[in-house]
Amino acid sequence: MPELPEVETVRRGLAAQIVDRVFTGVTFLEWSRTIETPAPEEFSRRIAGRRILAVGRRAKFLVLALDAGQSLVVHLRMTGQLTVAPRDAPRDRFARVALGFADGDELRFSDIRRFGRIGLFDEAELAARFHKLGPEPLGEGWSRDEFAAALARRRTRLKPLLLDQSFVAGLGNIYADEALFRAGLHPLTIAAAVPPERAALLHAAIRELLADAIASGGTTFSNYRDAYGNAGDYYERRRVYARTDEPCPICGAPIARIVVGGRGTHFCAACQPAPGTVAARIVPFPARGAERLVAEEGAEYRVTPVAEGDSGC
Ligand SMILES: [Zn+2]
Repeated sequence: MPELPEVETVRRGLAAQIVDRVFTGVTFLEWSRTIETPAPEEFSRRIAGRRILAVGRRAKFLVLALDAGQSLVVHLRMTGQLTVAPRDAPRDRFARVALGFADGDELRFSDIRRFGRIGLFDEAELAARFHKLGPEPLGEGWSRDEFAAALARRRTRLKPLLLDQSFVAGLGNIYADEALFRAGLHPLTIAAAVPPERAALLHAAIRELLADAIASGGTTFSNYRDAYGNAGDYYERRRVYARTDEPCPICGAPIARIVVGGRGTHFCAACQPAPGTVAARIVPFPARGAERLVAEEGAEYRVTPVAEGDSGC
C-alpha cells in the first residue's frame, strides 16, 4: 500500500504537470464508486471550470486545491495511480475515472483493486474530513519533545500506535517496522515505557526514513508507480520489512516476524530487545541525525522495565 513517501512522490510529479490546468468535468467513468462524494453527476458539474491552484498532501491523501474554495481529494489506497494523457490516447484496462482538462488532456485514475477514492470538498467539508488526522511527521510542528511527551501518555504498544493515523499521520507498515528497527525498539514495547533518549531516536528515525524514501522516489510495491509511471527504488533498501529469516544487517541474527494488531511485523530480536530485558547499546545504525543527537546529549540508554509484565511475542 502506498505510504507517505509514495504519495509525496506522486504529489511532486503531479504538481509539475497539472497546476493551472482547468477541469471540464468527468470524461470517463468505469467504476462509479471511485467517486466518493458528491454523486458522479454533481461531481462532474461542480468540478467543471475549476482551476488547479496547487497539489498538496495530507497524510496519505493527495489534495488538489482548486479555485472557488474547492478541493479534490484523492486516496490511492492499495493500487490507485494517477496519470496525465491526451484524451484520445488509449486508456489502460484498469482506468476507472478520467477528468478532462480544457486543453484536451485528461487526468486518469487507474486502480486494479478499485479501493481508491476521489472526493470533491468545500472548505468546511475538507476540515471535517481531516480533523481526526494526527501531525505530519515531516511537518515543522512535529517536534522531538512533543513526540516524546505523546509517547509518555500512551499505554499502547509501539507498533499499532505508529500505525494510528490520529497519533502520527501517514506512517504505514513498512516505515513503522523500519523506524522501530533503526531506533532499537521492540514493536511490542509499551509507548509510555520508552525512555526519552530512545523516543528521540525514534523521532529522528521516522523523519530520516521518510525523507530518504521520498528522495529515492518512494518504495516500490508490486504495482506502485509515480505520476510518470516510474517505479521507486526504496524497497530494496529496507532493512527488516518482509525480510523474515534473512540476517539482520547489524548483528546477523535472523529477522523475526510476528503479527501485531493483524499486521505482519518484522524486527531483530537481538537489536530490538523484548520489553523488560536490557539493551546492551545504542544500535549503531547509520541514522545520522540520531547519532548526532545521542552525542549531543550524552544520553545512555537503559530499558525501563514494563510494569505490567509484557513479555513480547
Ligand atoms: Zn540485529
